[in-house]
Amino acid sequence: MEKRVALYPGSFNPFTIGHLSILERGLRLFDKVVVVIGCNGAKDSSRTSADELRSKLAHLTGVEVMEWDGLTVDAATKVGAGWLLRGVRSVADYEYERNLADINRELTGIDTVLLTAEPRLAMVSSSMVRELRHFGHDVSDYIV
Ligand code: ADP
Repeated sequence: MEKRVALYPGSFNPFTIGHLSILERGLRLFDKVVVVIGCNGAKDSSRTSADELRSKLAHLTGVEVMEWDGLTVDAATKVGAGWLLRGVRSVADYEYERNLADINRELTGIDTVLLTAEPRLAMVSSSMVRELRHFGHDVSDYIV
């Protein structure tokens, strides 16, 4: 039977325990989840690198990690992913994610599976981690 492969794209700037939760839950739905770190050409020291993430996720089966600076749907085509995986924390996230899902489906026919955030993780965001880190706060509880 053909493997069910999903692409989990994001900035992951940095990769948080909220991202990890979506990834782990995605792995229960798909045979393989390819985490795609969007680079957009820009260098950013707080973004989690592919090498770093690969070693942090080494205990999980069915995960691949890659960096990509093009369109998400082109990455999906390249790795043969049939679905995109994204997370939703709030109504604001939902509006944003629905737009992205619509355009990506329009472009390629690829559907997006949206998983709602675990309530205890709904306040975890990369921007919150960057802000805490900027002011010297320990963020180890929030990142992988
Ligand atoms: P982007 O910059 O493309 O929005 P992010 O790296 O911020 O990407 O997030 C990637 C995906 O993970 C998005 O779908 C986002 O909504 C989701 N996400 C981020 N934090 C959480 C969280 N705490 N719980 C659930 N989903 C999350």
